Amino acid sequence: MTVRVRFAPSPTGFLHVGGLRTALFNWLFARKMNGTFILRLEDTDQKRFTPGGVRAIMEGLQWLGLQWDEGPSRAELRKMQTNEDWDGAPDVGGNFGPYIQSQRLPIYQAAVDELLAQGKAYRCDCTAVRLDAMRKEQMARKESTHYDRHCRNKAAGEVDPSKPHVVRIAVPLEGTTTVHDLIRGDITVDYAKLDDFVILKSDGFPTYHLAAMVDDHAMQITHVLRGDEWLPSLPKHYLIYQSFGWEPPVFAHLPVILNPSGKGKMSKRKATSADSVFVSEFREEGYLPEALRNFLAFVGWAPGSGIEKEIMPIDELIELFDLAHVNPAPAAFPYDKLDWMNGMYIRALPADELAKRIYPFLISAGIEADVDRLIKITPDIQERLETLQDAVAATDFLFAEHVSPDPKQLIGKGMTVEQTLSVLQQAEQVISTFEPFEAEPLEHAFRAAADASGLKPGPFFTPLRVAVTGKTVSPPLFGSIVALGRERTIERLKNAQQLLSN
Ligand code: GLU
Repeated sequence: MTVRVRFAPSPTGFLHVGGLRTALFNWLFARKMNGTFILRLEDTDQKRFTPGGVRAIMEGLQWLGLQWDEGPSRAELRKMQTNEDWDGAPDVGGNFGPYIQSQRLPIYQAAVDELLAQGKAYRCDCTAVRLDAMRKEQMARKESTHYDRHCRNKAAGEVDPSKPHVVRIAVPLEGTTTVHDLIRGDITVDYAKLDDFVILKSDGFPTYHLAAMVDDHAMQITHVLRGDEWLPSLPKHYLIYQSFGWEPPVFAHLPVILNPSGKGKMSKRKATSADSVFVSEFREEGYLPEALRNFLAFVGWAPGSGIEKEIMPIDELIELFDLAHVNPAPAAFPYDKLDWMNGMYIRALPADELAKRIYPFLISAGIEADVDRLIKITPDIQERLETLQDAVAATDFLFAEHVSPDPKQLIGKGMTVEQTLSVLQQAEQVISTFEPFEAEPLEHAFRAAADASGLKPGPFFTPLRVAVTGKTVSPPLFGSIVALGRERTIERLKNAQQLLSN
């Protein structure tokens, strides 16, 4: 058997990190089993279709390196009525297309017709007014609301197929059904608890329940790995499979992701900078895709068998990934662990590669960064970064035409203005001629100068640091001076002296 799995997002918003985790588990499982990873767009909820949503999904997956083996072709993408330019989009396709549900309506119609012909589904033309009154009465009687099956026993033709109506599935009136989830085992449910749910809406679009099952069958999906908000729907999905006489795939429902407080599900709507939920936000904040991917693999999964380490290259994650070790308990999303992991990945990058990744963040911040200077400073800031975005505040002084230090901050602890001026003058002299112009020898020279003037290195270096970087906290001082260059450093030292003398 060849494993075939799918990630089937609805483009009703931007890609959420929980959705990305679902995609990752599917992708890891497919790679591990030498299977096929499919992208299918479930856009049957036309009212909630979000322009830009499809692009966000594809960009998010590609950013994380989760390339799909089958999915919408460029021609299919162009058929969506979104007026977007798909020229640069991946043109994937496959033998089971189209991979966009709104382009599969005849397939769902044929499936519904089959169930209607066999009496396993029925047309219902109850009006919204009638359904509303019915629900109110049920609530008044303190019953749970459900469809009262008013149309189920109507004679053939009594509901006019040319007038607005929905199609409902006829749930068995008694008995139980047992469904199986790979992570949680068997679950038995009374049919009496299931409503005659809608499978075809009055606009001719299928509901998620019908479309997803018809497609999973048609696309020969072997394993459905999806968020556990779908677990309560599993009996409905089994019923659809049984109604068609099809064998259901293996279902595994992935644990819900809790927000960092540990209370409540990570919301799709409430995004602040402190707790991002959209994949694009993590990207903009300077998380490395390989770090986020590694981190997400451990949200609800662990390799087990005594393996403690969590930083793992992707090949190792693929090798160790195992659905048996998915934990059904709600999973936490610890941002501090993500920050730590991101820092570890940043430190593991070669400095020139890191500089390349930092560069676009400087540009977005409106900084005209100079690549050579950036490469020089990168090894000095690498140790301290948690995100690529952190590099902006750490290096902006390097690319600024001037810095404007606060004169009060120039004066080191316990120093006078005169002492500070003399330190700056000495520094200017040393910098003007010192060879080799490299961090370590410079530091030696300055330590000696501090000694000679009877000052501790701390207070001695403060005026220098503030003069050169404009800040009291900066990357290592002498690396900063070297990256800035002799001339600019001298300019800044002069400028600081002037500020103090005024
Ligand atoms: N379109 C559904 C969603 O976005 C997919 C659920 C599934 O994987 O079956 O939640």
